[in-house]
Amino acid sequence: VRHLLPDQVFQDGALRPGLAVALDGACIAGVVSADALPHGAEIERLPGRALLPGFVNAHSHAFQRGLRGHVQHTVGADSFWTWRDRMYRLANALDPDGVEAVSALAFLEMVRAGFTTVGEFHYLQHAPDGTPYADPDELARRVVSAARRVGIHIVLLRVAYGRAGFGLDPNPLQRRFYDATPDDVLAATERLRATGVNVGLAPHSVRACPADWLRAFSTFEGPIHAHVDEQPAEIEASLREHGRRPLHAFADAGLVRPGFVAVHLTHPDDAELGTLDETGAAACVCPTTELDLGDGFFPLERLLSLGRGGAPPRNAPPVTARLSIGTDSHAQIDPFAEIRAIELHARAVTGRRNVWAHADPDGLAAALIEVGTAGGAAALGVGAGRIAPGARADLVAVDLTAPAVRGARPLPALVFAGHPGLVRDVWVGGRRIVDAGVHPFEGAILAEAERALARTEA
Ligand SMILES: [Zn+2]
Repeated sequence: VRHLLPDQVFQDGALRPGLAVALDGACIAGVVSADALPHGAEIERLPGRALLPGFVNAHSHAFQRGLRGHVQHTVGADSFWTWRDRMYRLANALDPDGVEAVSALAFLEMVRAGFTTVGEFHYLQHAPDGTPYADPDELARRVVSAARRVGIHIVLLRVAYGRAGFGLDPNPLQRRFYDATPDDVLAATERLRATGVNVGLAPHSVRACPADWLRAFSTFEGPIHAHVDEQPAEIEASLREHGRRPLHAFADAGLVRPGFVAVHLTHPDDAELGTLDETGAAACVCPTTELDLGDGFFPLERLLSLGRGGAPPRNAPPVTARLSIGTDSHAQIDPFAEIRAIELHARAVTGRRNVWAHADPDGLAAALIEVGTAGGAAALGVGAGRIAPGARADLVAVDLTAPAVRGARPLPALVFAGHPGLVRDVWVGGRRIVDAGVHPFEGAILAEAERALARTEA
């Protein structure tokens, strides 16, 4: 058993001094008073540091990191849909080596920013013309391999993509994504699981999956993630096809339950929010991508207001366990930016402060940290996201001596002014993968990704 002894430990919603975190292999053995450490205990002191649970990035498309700086502004009319065409061109320009190299770049940036787990919503399956590779799971394995090289824990959310949309002809730019049947998708999840990969299922959206596909997924055991209500056009198409809005189309198929994660949920109506609340399903928001794409904002204030006035549903998990964050298109990779945006968006929309009101002065900051950690772990079904006995030893040491935090109340300062530059050390499963801001394979990973991306521009 080893002990980490920082200045502060994030535990039970607060930063607490005088605590040591005991690590036993890949897990946290306990949190003990620093005064009670046994004589001769193996102690690593972390002066000037606060130890947080590692952040969980519950929604990522790693290859889209290759779009950074190319699509943030274009000349002329631009929208989510024109951005998507640019994204598809990149998706079709990457060979397996390129997918692996760009994924490693995204994962490297994640661990440097304090993410220790990623839910990779993986929809590049086949060669650009739609032909399966000799190993039908080639690209999924490349992504997993990139994660393992970096050291980030990955949950591979295997996407199901059956069609371009209701009543639409197949889109030649989407051939890499398509599977012929829902059983093909389920078979892929089984194969990946059999090789030790942590797998979830991701029916891409109501646009990409017809109702019979969704029903075929109702027996899947494990997390189910789907894009829901990201764009008004998707909701209109769902109403035309099903007479139901997207979350209710998923619910009709039996998928909306604990373990279901509605990604984005940008434009839900009150009935959909009520369904989310009643079923124990969760939402994953991706604020910096939603800002970049002009999607809109997740209506935190409306979700919170559901529980007001009446008693909250009995045994309902707290909101912090049912919200998570993702960096999605990787316009930026910064857990601090994502968590604070949840509250700041709501302030911008409602014109008031403390939308997510808490009595404790650190309560709001703590709740947002929990969304970024425990909420993401719940979304991916992994035993991480908190500093407690038995949890996986996924930890981040942040710098309390940096200018952004000095002279400030530390926890709110970390949430409302924090940035990846504060992250100094990162442990995944008890293994330190970032040491004093340095990852051992950084130079090689950056160089390989730059070469792969240069090839896509040729
Ligand atoms: Zn997405």
